[in-house]
This record gives sequence, C-alpha cells and structure tokens, in this order.
Amino acid sequence: MEKTRNPIPVAEAISRILARTARTGTEAVTLAESYGRFLREPLAATHDVPHFTRSPYDGYAIRAADSAGASGDHRIRFKVVDHIGAGEVSQVAIGAFEAVRLMTGAAIPDGADAVVMFEQARAEDGAFTIRKAFEPQENLSQQGEDMRAGEAVVPAGSLIHPGTIALLATFGYAYVQVAKRPVVGILSTGTELLDVSAPLAPGKIRNSNGPMIAAQLARMGIPYRMYQSADDRLEDLMQTVGQALAETDCLITTGGVSVGDFDYLPEVYKRLGAEVLFDKVAMRPGSVTTVAVAGNSFLFGLSGNPSACFTGFELFVRPALLRMMGAETLFLPHTTAVLAEDFPKANPFTRFIRAVYDGSKVRSAGFNKSNAVSSIAKGNSLLVLPGGTRGYSSGDSVDILLLGVEEGTNQWVL
Ligand code: AMP
Ligand code: MG
Repeated sequence: MEKTRNPIPVAEAISRILARTARTGTEAVTLAESYGRFLREPLAATHDVPHFTRSPYDGYAIRAADSAGASGDHRIRFKVVDHIGAGEVSQVAIGAFEAVRLMTGAAIPDGADAVVMFEQARAEDGAFTIRKAFEPQENLSQQGEDMRAGEAVVPAGSLIHPGTIALLATFGYAYVQVAKRPVVGILSTGTELLDVSAPLAPGKIRNSNGPMIAAQLARMGIPYRMYQSADDRLEDLMQTVGQALAETDCLITTGGVSVGDFDYLPEVYKRLGAEVLFDKVAMRPGSVTTVAVAGNSFLFGLSGNPSACFTGFELFVRPALLRMMGAETLFLPHTTAVLAEDFPKANPFTRFIRAVYDGSKVRSAGFNKSNAVSSIAKGNSLLVLPGGTRGYSSGDSVDILLLGVEEGTNQWVL
C-alpha cells in the first residue's frame, strides 16, 4: 500500500528548511564584484563623512561675524583673497571682511565659518557685497554630518546594492568580505523532456523548468550547474542524483516527486538515506514539493508542473539559499492589494496564484492551473489565498508576494 503523505503548512515547511541550513564560508571579492553579494561583516564608518567641513555651494567663505548688520540699505563689502575648487585647500588665513571664493565640495578655509552663495552676493571687481547677516555655521556641510567615525551603518547579512557599494567605496574597501555562494545544481527529470533546440515530437514537451530555475537563480545572483535532464528510470536517476549531490550544496530537481508510477525521486531519497523534511505541503500548486537533506546537501524536489515548480522555488529554495549566505531578509517582499476578481471556490490548501499587481489591485495572470506556463510569464506577483472554507470576492483585501524585487523582507507573510 502507498504511504499517505501528511500535508504541513507552508510556514512550517519553510521553518523546517531554515532550521537545517548551514552557513557558507566567507571570501574576499573586489568592490566591483561585490554587487549582489551579502556582507559577512557589519559595516561601520572608519572615519567621519565628510571628514572635513566643506562648502555645499559655489560661493564665498567668510567670517559670519563680519556680516553683522548687513541689509539692503547697508551692504557689507568683502574682499576676495583666494579662489579654490573642490579638492583644493586654501593656504590663506581669512582676515576681517575678507573672503575665499570657493566651489561646492571645497574645504572651508581656516577662520571662515559661513558660506555666502553666489545668489546671495553682488559681485564687484575682486570683491562682493551682501545684504544680509549670516549666522555662524550657515551654509556649511559639517564634518561628520552624514556619518560619524565608528558609527554602525550597515549590518552583516545585508545585500550589497548600489548604495552599499557607494558606502564601501567611501571607506576605501577595495576588497569586501562576502558570503560564498552555495553551489547549486539543476536536474530536470522526465522521459518526456526535450532540450530547447529539439523539434517537438509526439508525447514530448520542451524542458521549460530547467531554464526557468536557472533564471530564478540568476536573478538572485547565484551561479548554477545544469545537469542533462534525466529519464524516469530509477537506476539512471540514482546515478545522476548521487553524482550531482557530490558536486553541489543544493540540488534542485523538477518532476518525479509525485505518486505516479514513474515518479522515482521518493525512492531515490530512500536509497540515498536522505532525511525527508517533508513531502507534502498544504498549498496549491505544488503540494507534492519534497525537501530532503543528504549529508551536507539539500535536495529540493520541485513538482514538474511549471507553475508549481516556479512557486516552489520562490517559496522554499530562495529563502534557503539566502539563509546559507547569511542574508538578513529571506522572504519575498509582501504587501496587501485589492482583489479584482472573484475566487468563489473554497480550497482547504493555501493557494499561490500567479498574478498581476498594478500598485493597488491584483488579478490572476490568466490560466492558473499548476501546469500553466503562460501565467508565470505574465505575472509579477503571487496572490496568496489562505486555505479554508470560504472563497474570495472582488474587493477583498489580500496578501501578495512581489517577485523580482532586489531586496526582500525578514517577515514571512503567513
Ligand atoms: P511530474 O511532476 O513529473 O509528475 O510532472 C508533472 C507535469 O509537469 C507533467 O505534465 C510533466 O510533463 C510536466 N513537466 C515535468 N517536468 C517538466 C519540465 N522540466 N518542463 C516542463 N514541464 C515539465
Ligand atoms: Mg515526471
């Protein structure tokens, strides 16, 4: 008799996976290569930013005290004693009613404590006049106003995005300590599968899951090894899976995890002595998604149905890989949206529907069976309809998961 599978909630499945992930090692990469990687160490300011007080405008540095009493009727005149641009430092000490003409980013000269913007001055030959008094420190970009030396700025585990790169460059990090990326393999299974360049033949379909998963990994900045797709033959699968496991930290398979006559992966896990974390999740599509651990490697057994495969990757593989790299934010970002159509049928399992979110409303991306390919292509989000005894109506407020957003969240939606 076949063993009955016991469905567990999605959140439980995710936490079982996360409990088993091990950290990857650390490596140093160049600043340019660090984009999209995860910081292994917290980033603290190694000096004040800016590290000298500078001018935020093109104008004249003066002693504020000299401007006291200036008005439209009583303009005060300053003599220009030096002229500097950004990157230059004036060697002239400013005296009473003297000024240094300076450009944005230039260091404030000794003795000066305010900047008159060009717009606030009337230029004369080698001099200018002003019609208002300046406060000490007026129009200055103060040393340390952005960051103070020693201040914690970005925690370990943060995604290195363009802003982080700017920060790393500011502090002189030519090399950055980042998490190593896990070695991930992709193995599509199914005797019906053809490679992308093969002509269609009766009963056969092109393998779309393999390339799709490759792109899902690429979107996370994770390289992959693509294995030749495997026929549904137990001995061959044992051989291929065994070899792939030895070469990877994480092997993603598609197909063959269900209860069909040629679904051999459950038997492969058994023969490998893998520990199956779960083999049924209370979700649609992809309830047969199976995750196992063999030695130090993860086996993600995703359904062959394209929509289920896609969803299984985003819900289970993605957070696991992120956790391995020590990422702070493991989950797809989520928000609420107004449902723009009815889903009248109740479903005991939580549904994840490929959907189009327009910033306020969300609707299904079309044909939404688990074998759909079209709706994966059209969708930009996953609409989450929790399982239960009721359906959902247009106008209901629903949770959605946003796809393809660079940075996720540390809070799972369910
Ligand atoms: P399985 O999970 O092996 O029972 O497959 C479920 C359905 O997904 C079947 O209709 C398969 O033909 C289809 N399928 C399996 N693998 C792939 C794949 N790599 N690309 C596209 N469809 C697939
Ligand atoms: Mg199959």
